[in-house]
Amino acid sequence: MVGYKELGLVNTREMFAKAVDGGYAIPAFNFNNMEQLQAIIMAAVETKSPVILQVSKGARNYANQTLLRYMAEGAVGYAKELGCEHPEIVLHLDHGDSFELCKSCIDMGFSSVMIDGSALPYDENVAVTKKVVEYAHQHDVTVEGELGVLAGVEEEVSAAESHYTKPEEVIDFVTKTGCDSLAISIGTSHGAYKFTPEQCTVDPQTGRLVPPPLAFDVLEAVEKQLPGFPIVLHGSSSVPQEEVDTINQYGGCLKAAVGIPEDQLRKAAKSAVCKINIDSDSRLAMTAAIRKALAEKPAEFDPRKYLTPARDNMKKLYIHKIVNVLGSDNKLINK
Ligand SMILES: [Zn+2]
Repeated sequence: MVGYKELGLVNTREMFAKAVDGGYAIPAFNFNNMEQLQAIIMAAVETKSPVILQVSKGARNYANQTLLRYMAEGAVGYAKELGCEHPEIVLHLDHGDSFELCKSCIDMGFSSVMIDGSALPYDENVAVTKKVVEYAHQHDVTVEGELGVLAGVEEEVSAAESHYTKPEEVIDFVTKTGCDSLAISIGTSHGAYKFTPEQCTVDPQTGRLVPPPLAFDVLEAVEKQLPGFPIVLHGSSSVPQEEVDTINQYGGCLKAAVGIPEDQLRKAAKSAVCKINIDSDSRLAMTAAIRKALAEKPAEFDPRKYLTPARDNMKKLYIHKIVNVLGSDNKLINK
């Protein structure tokens, strides 16, 4: 058993309260390798932003939980080395699917966990979330629950269609479970193919697909039920077209990939939405840079030669998200 405080990590309680008050959102970036982690930490330090490092069950299997623990501890040390005296870094389990998995992460130094019972019948979702909260709070670990179902595919999580969160359920859920934040479904979606072409309209000027708008009426109704309660948006990558174009230009084949427009996320970040999850955009940025580097220098076989531009491209993306979309720059509590 290792407590997250020993690793220099923090839970989400204080940073969320400040984000809700301040009208911005904390970035939750998924990671599963060193280059992503370096890029996230460099971006967070340069912008003086708090940051949530997210690990899915699949990423945990990929990277190994022991390594992850030391990577998170290393991230704190690295941030300090880069000049950030008091980094605010959360290690968060994304889409925990059982009490056992959440407990195991808490015991291995995670400072925050999500228990996703959103696919279960309501009463079972309440029961498993409550059980995780009871264990987590004994260790001062914060818990994210979920109500409503997002469409799309994200590793083990997939659903053919979304079901918006029912605002009339949120008070009961939060009261019964004691969760610290709530992921809701208002039309965001997992993966790089968030919408079918049929769900989109076409921008006459660019010919690009324009996705349907988020259900801000549902978000407002939830906020009315739970004033000031931290709300989380999953599946909030924007799928930058320039990265998709680069991938396709250098031998990739991404057809009709569509994300959430950044102006919609900017609007959400100003509300009680205080955590916005971004995973696919980083994957696209990494893959685009690697494809380009390999295509331009076909004789190169030193991984550092193509992983360096990949890391640079991810860092640029993370800084852009922090500064221009989420507004979490210069928000460290102890600067
Ligand atoms: Zn998610």
